Amino acid sequence: MKRIVILDKDKCNPEKCGNWLCFRLCPVNRMDKECITKNKKPVINEELCTGCAICSNKCPFEALSVINLPEKLKVDPIHRYGKNAFELFHLPIPKENKVVGILGRNGIGKTTALNILSGNLKPNLGNFEDPAIEEDIIKRYSSVILGKYFKKLFNKKIKISYKPQRIELIPKIYKGKVKDLIKKIDETNKGDKYLEELDLIEIKNRNISSLSGGELQRVAIIAAAVKKADIYYFDEPASFCDVTARIKVAKIIRSLAKNASVVVIEHDLATLDYISDEIQIVYGQPTCYGIISQSKAVGRGINEYLNGYLPEDNVRFRDYSIKFPRSQKEHLLEKEILLEFPELEKKFTNFKLNVNTGEIHKAEILTVMGANGLGKTTFLKLLSGLEKPTKGKIKKMKIAYKVQYPEANIKGTVIEHLRKIAKTNFNSKWYQSLILEKLNLKPVLNNEVNTLSGGELQKVYIAATLSQDCKIFAFDEPSAFIDVEDRLKVAEVIKKFIQKKEACAIVVDHDVQFIDYIADSMLVFEGIPAKQGSVYGPVTKQEGMNRVLKILDITYRTDKETLRPRINKPGSNLDTTQRKKGEYYYN
Ligand code: SF4
Ligand code: SF4
Repeated sequence: MKRIVILDKDKCNPEKCGNWLCFRLCPVNRMDKECITKNKKPVINEELCTGCAICSNKCPFEALSVINLPEKLKVDPIHRYGKNAFELFHLPIPKENKVVGILGRNGIGKTTALNILSGNLKPNLGNFEDPAIEEDIIKRYSSVILGKYFKKLFNKKIKISYKPQRIELIPKIYKGKVKDLIKKIDETNKGDKYLEELDLIEIKNRNISSLSGGELQRVAIIAAAVKKADIYYFDEPASFCDVTARIKVAKIIRSLAKNASVVVIEHDLATLDYISDEIQIVYGQPTCYGIISQSKAVGRGINEYLNGYLPEDNVRFRDYSIKFPRSQKEHLLEKEILLEFPELEKKFTNFKLNVNTGEIHKAEILTVMGANGLGKTTFLKLLSGLEKPTKGKIKKMKIAYKVQYPEANIKGTVIEHLRKIAKTNFNSKWYQSLILEKLNLKPVLNNEVNTLSGGELQKVYIAATLSQDCKIFAFDEPSAFIDVEDRLKVAEVIKKFIQKKEACAIVVDHDVQFIDYIADSMLVFEGIPAKQGSVYGPVTKQEGMNRVLKILDITYRTDKETLRPRINKPGSNLDTTQRKKGEYYYN
């Protein structure tokens, strides 16, 4: 069995763990062999390691992981970042006239795979000390389709267009107006068409540096789509986009596959399902290793991912299935009202928001959906007292509020931060299991908050909000930056917590699957973005989803196996029948 040992250098602190604890405890070292050696941080010889896991169990900072790779994995990695560092096995296979969707957790190698396929990272075939040359790489894959691909890539015979994950870096590289950037790279003459389709005409004279996350994402997608390419790669195109933009972006990306191959990484399951023709799953252990599966039909691929089992490879990569239980949809509302709001109006210089009267009951989760720029965040700020209404009066209430954009400017470690807010609750059984374990925060408890990844920081903010002594909780986009598995866990944690504490919550989000899972009732924001917003509801989830989906011009059905909601392919029998009946949301 092949074994790897992964060291998280950021977590390892040999001076604070009890003076090189792993080095002293390793039984192989104690037999005077050099399994663990010292080089500022421990270096583990994977050939000598017996896999006893004493080091990983005893390390107080959880800096070591000892992993036995799946028995059937006979191949060497395509890439390894260094000694005791992450390794990746296999690669996605782009297919002509198809959109291949890539599904997997954060830190599992999806972006590494795209960087290799797009030529931004030369794979070392696992040999980081003496990296492979191009001929070796072509030879290694000569019997499979990837050999031809690498030959073309290295000989510059394929043209690639790549939308990177980290769009926040774009303003650092490009300074200037949106229209100038697009014009400069527009090889297909579709720039203006895409700007219009993605509602960006009004911002085309703005500087790239002044764009919001959602605007920047759409510009980055257009910048990739206007190039004439054989293969288009899109790394997380739905991030920062509102629910309307996600569908519009998906339509543009799908249209590229008419004349090219397209590969898309995405965590929003509904968008991934809608956009893809086939799915490749990436499984393994985040930050340690990742394996890319064979290609599968979309529905089957997503279901296998949710089940945590790949029958063709006979691999179980998760010991539980992710379910979408029917009963979640039938949760009956309690009578007791915890929050009431009157008719409200809020005016800014160029924007007006009108809100109908509404109420939220004990144990209820009221979800909020709608395009950006319609006042959803303003509504939350009005309720929590951070903004004053122009008309109407809000009763002062204590609301625990998770802001839209978590910032890492918190001093100290995660444990110090959460302990301060949760107080005595921190040590309670329910807090440890429901909040810390379910949100998988235990491994980062000793990390400084300002060193966390986007997903980890989001989960710390969610935990901090739930740690407050309060009956009303508000969450602005809790699924942002979080991978597909953790999204459903976040939904589950919020739902269970609200029921256990007999509290209530308002949740604003753009992930339809996430909202479908968590919602008891719904507010739908409508109007003209950045000009005027009004609120429809509160209504039942059924009515609210139907209204949102009608605006988005898509219909949903239920997947028979997992009961998850799925977008119907436009023009399919179900799509046509449901549209005729006005049933955009499945029953
Ligand atoms: Fe100490 Fe853990 Fe680092 Fe080993 S890995 S030196 S036990 S902190
Ligand atoms: Fe040593 Fe056991 Fe750790 Fe391997 S797993 S490095 S043998 S302590």
